[in-house]
Amino acid sequence: MNMETHWIHQLKNNSHIGILVVDKNRKNLFVNDALCKMFGYDRETLLGTDAEIFHVNHESFLRFAELAFNAVLKGEALGIDYQFKHSDGSLFWVHIAGDPIQETNEILWSMVDITKRVEALEREKRLLKELEETNYNTKQYLEAIDKIGIGLFVVDENYNTRYMNKTMISWFGNQIGKVCYSGVAGLSDPCPYCKLHEVIDKNQKVTYEPTTPNGESFEIVATSIKNSDGTVSKMEFIRNVTAQKEVQRRLQKEKERYNYQAHHDALTGLPNRILFTDRLSQAMKKAKRADSKVALFFIDLDHFKEINDSLGHDIGDEILQVVTKRLHKSIRKEDTLARLGGDEFTVILENLSDTKDISIVADNILNTLSQSIDIDNHKLYVSSSIGISVFPDDGDTTKDLLKFADSAMYKAKDEGRNNYQFYNESMTELAFERVLMEASLREALQKEEFVVYYQPQMDAVEDKIVGMEALVRWKHPKMGIISPAKFIPLAESTGLIVEIDRFVMKTAMKQIGQWYRAGLKPGILAMNLAVKQLQKEDFIEVFQSIMSDTGSKAEWLELEVTESQIMKNPQKAIKILQEISKIGIELAVDDFGTGYSSLAYLKKFPINKLKIDQTFVKDLPKDEEDVGIVKAVIALAKALNLKIIAEGVETKEQKDFLINNQCHNIQGYFYSRPVEADELEKKFLRTSD
Ligand code: C2E
Ligand code: CA
Ligand code: CA
Repeated sequence: MNMETHWIHQLKNNSHIGILVVDKNRKNLFVNDALCKMFGYDRETLLGTDAEIFHVNHESFLRFAELAFNAVLKGEALGIDYQFKHSDGSLFWVHIAGDPIQETNEILWSMVDITKRVEALEREKRLLKELEETNYNTKQYLEAIDKIGIGLFVVDENYNTRYMNKTMISWFGNQIGKVCYSGVAGLSDPCPYCKLHEVIDKNQKVTYEPTTPNGESFEIVATSIKNSDGTVSKMEFIRNVTAQKEVQRRLQKEKERYNYQAHHDALTGLPNRILFTDRLSQAMKKAKRADSKVALFFIDLDHFKEINDSLGHDIGDEILQVVTKRLHKSIRKEDTLARLGGDEFTVILENLSDTKDISIVADNILNTLSQSIDIDNHKLYVSSSIGISVFPDDGDTTKDLLKFADSAMYKAKDEGRNNYQFYNESMTELAFERVLMEASLREALQKEEFVVYYQPQMDAVEDKIVGMEALVRWKHPKMGIISPAKFIPLAESTGLIVEIDRFVMKTAMKQIGQWYRAGLKPGILAMNLAVKQLQKEDFIEVFQSIMSDTGSKAEWLELEVTESQIMKNPQKAIKILQEISKIGIELAVDDFGTGYSSLAYLKKFPINKLKIDQTFVKDLPKDEEDVGIVKAVIALAKALNLKIIAEGVETKEQKDFLINNQCHNIQGYFYSRPVEADELEKKFLRTSD
């Protein structure tokens, strides 16, 4: 972190408190003007490491530094008085306090010159010592004490005031002869310090610090003394420490101000990285005890840099402030919102019992942030990308959680921005499911969020395209591209698959017609047929009307039905498949080998092709069992006079094995992933050979 630019520059000139920032290797990083003045050296000299010139005794300073550093880093607050050497050779005392800057292990030392106070104290100490050793009413000592402004007060065993010196009288008025402190200005009766006197009765020395209601503070050092007649009196030395208290108060206030600046972002007033890290580690500790979860959001505005560069930093700043307000509204009071810098924000969600809540909050944030911002007659749109990590599931250090949330955020950017991603993929899936349920596929259909991809089917011997399979994709505005494996099961259970498949058929058949009419040779278009379609009375009718609308010929088309779908209700399936076959459309059995086909049925079905499922292809040619199955399926296809194709072919070994075993048609990543129509056309239909 760049200290200079962050907050410390504010402390440079306007302070009488010396500030020194030291890194973890004890190298001085920063000093302010007040400190330079205090030591009488310029900044360069002070920043130079190990300058012995500042120390009365360098050896003992090193020992002190060792202790001080460790104490502060351990979080044990350190406030200590220490003596240094000024450039003019004089010695001076400072009160030093150290505050760790957690994230960087840097320490901020603040120093106040307390030489005057220390000297006064030392003088007093010397005097008191001498007084203790002589008789209290020695005239010179009393005068001396008055001169340095110490109050002297003596009470007898019955708490009657026997003596007050001039200083004491000037503070409290003359009380001689009265009961201790009774009637003393501002102090209540009975004496609140009688307890103190009881202690003194036991012949102990005590220090006590009363503050009178009028705001003056006194420090009382009391001791008992033996009178010459054998009786005991209590003697109190009283110092007015009001001024000193005032300095302390100011010091405390300054420190709080530094503390605030050190922990908050100046533009938005949000906690900065340092405070954020602290809050996160507190939240983790709490969650550990309560056995609950903490979610960390890493929020990055999309294209913020462009806005900043084109519209200027003032507008950029305004946007950040609006974003801050909106973020505050999307989270609960107890959650922490922080700004790490630039356009990066973080949110800590605590007390999570259900991880579903996380995606609700993420949705809210995306929604509110994507609403337009009106600034200076500009209507600005700023979306955001969110990465989410969860404690303790993903990691158990602040560093890891932040790193993981950050990398999930990049995933969100990759998915097309304005979306959120969990670091843990299964969580993303859970969230998808929720969104799928709630946002409903129907809406996606209306909004035309589905697109059709095509995967080529190749003659592997000739390296030529013989057809393609149409595969649907959901281009979700927030989640990016969603695979059909994620939404087809839901679409099937809600019946929406019927409409989705009609859309796919319409789109794909239109496309294949265009290709044919353009004189290209796309081969056969294979389309997946959900079982729900087979159950629709009007399927054939609808299919034929799509054919005529798009001008598709039957010989261009093929429908894929999975083995398990047919086997669910073979009697019914057989009927409709026969109708399909009648209009000249070929039928392929998809995922062949994964269901429980009865050979008796297989023979009766009007099918033309078997599609070897990718699970058997995956471990070819190493897995002996798979080798056996694939060879058997190929033999079966031959015996039943069916065509054969293998799907999921990714490697040359798999391809070679299949060719060598007389399965010449293959589909898989080896040739191409499913791609959009343009790409398929460019790569497979427009190649001249
Ligand atoms: P499927 O019919 O078995 O489709 C083949 C799946 O394998 C596709 O997944 C494809 O992307 C993938 N694949 C192709 N080659 C390779 C390869 O070399 N390696 C690997 N690992 N995978 C490969 P996708 O597109 O995710 O589709 C999943 C399933 O969703 C399809 O399985 C199909 O059952 C269903 N589906 C897809 N589109 C539609 C559709 O428009 N209508 C219906 N009813 N179902 C569809
Ligand atoms: Ca298929
Ligand atoms: Ca398949």
